[in-house]
Amino acid sequence: MPFKALHLSDSVLRGVQAAGYTDPTPIQLRAIPVVLGGGDLIASAQTGTGKTAAFALPILTRLGTHGRVRVLVLEPTRELAAQVETAFRDFARFTDLRPVAIFGGVGYGYQRTELKRGVDIIVATPGRLMDYLQEGTISLRDISILVLDEVDRMLDMGFLPVVRDIIARCPRERQTLFFSATVPPEIAAVASFALRNPTRVEVGIARSVVASVNHALYPVAAEQKFELLEAMLAKINFDSVLVFSRTKHGADKIARRLKAGNHSVAVLHANRSQNQRIEALAGFKSGKYEVMVATDIAARGIDVAGISHVINYDVPEKPEDYVHRIGRTGRAQAVGDAFTLVTPENANDIRDIQRFIGQKIPELRLDGFDYRAFAARPVQAEAPRTRGSLPGQIRHKGSFNRYRNRR
Ligand code: AMP
Repeated sequence: MPFKALHLSDSVLRGVQAAGYTDPTPIQLRAIPVVLGGGDLIASAQTGTGKTAAFALPILTRLGTHGRVRVLVLEPTRELAAQVETAFRDFARFTDLRPVAIFGGVGYGYQRTELKRGVDIIVATPGRLMDYLQEGTISLRDISILVLDEVDRMLDMGFLPVVRDIIARCPRERQTLFFSATVPPEIAAVASFALRNPTRVEVGIARSVVASVNHALYPVAAEQKFELLEAMLAKINFDSVLVFSRTKHGADKIARRLKAGNHSVAVLHANRSQNQRIEALAGFKSGKYEVMVATDIAARGIDVAGISHVINYDVPEKPEDYVHRIGRTGRAQAVGDAFTLVTPENANDIRDIQRFIGQKIPELRLDGFDYRAFAARPVQAEAPRTRGSLPGQIRHKGSFNRYRNRR
């Protein structure tokens, strides 16, 4: 079914065309009619499925023309708020509707000016929005559509109490759209507080790994992790690589060492100033930096076209973060590679991740790398073996070249 059949307004359809989309994704097909019909929605969809357009397109259609502040979208991070506001702006380019992004870490001046000029859609992180609500600069009196995006990450970041407070300040008569990859009990409680007779939309399984991503584990001794990372970067033919670290301090350290090895590197984590974060992302998008080292919270939902490789320098703490991290590559029809460095101490984490995604991740070795410190033994208790391989040998399912040729 083409976008045309979805009853979006002509000006929004022109925006979709200009964005280069031809066919709606499954979440768009299912969510757009619900949103246009005015109903509440609870959707679980992985990032990378096109969920932003799934709510932005019908919202813009419903708004029609410029008026009062009628839409509030809450996002867990500044980067997501900026990204979602940009998506609204792009799709709205043939309308007179005006979005604004409201988040902390930057001055108030520009945001106040925009608010004064008059906006239709506010895309905000909870903290800065609360500042404006308390001083009375923003009123939620006319909000008719409330979008709660990435609610599971709001929970992780401790935002749920503020989010509840904000929901309570919106008019009771409104449409509410709720997006969360997982729905643990705390989130179900917010959903039942915020939503009325919602339509449930689940796209794919929130646990599944995007089919367009080749992923593999690379067992290595802890003391050789950085060497293996460098060897990988030297070997692969990458466009841009996103490297994940568990900690902010670790991210800084990896970045420093990569810079010393003459890589152009950006760093993204919560301790960096907003300007540094904006510069890092813009530089990574433009190709100024070939590598970006990031922590989970900072990288959640980041949409950079053309990330060819994700490398988990550290195994993620939570299984769902594995799915989010490797979902940064292979987005919207592109093919990507995702590699995870694992040490024997990570065996339990790997077991949990495999259980979560319902599949075994192949273990590979990097051709030509000197695995001095690591006895060639798999991290997983019963590693899959190819026929005829000797006991204890690691299955070697392919090489970087094979992956590379596929693209
Ligand atoms: P999202 O899940 O909203 O972060 O979107 C993931 C990526 O898919 C973004 O780069 C979007 O621009 C892209 N995208 C969303 N919808 C479509 C579509 N219908 N056709 C092609 N690309 C899309």
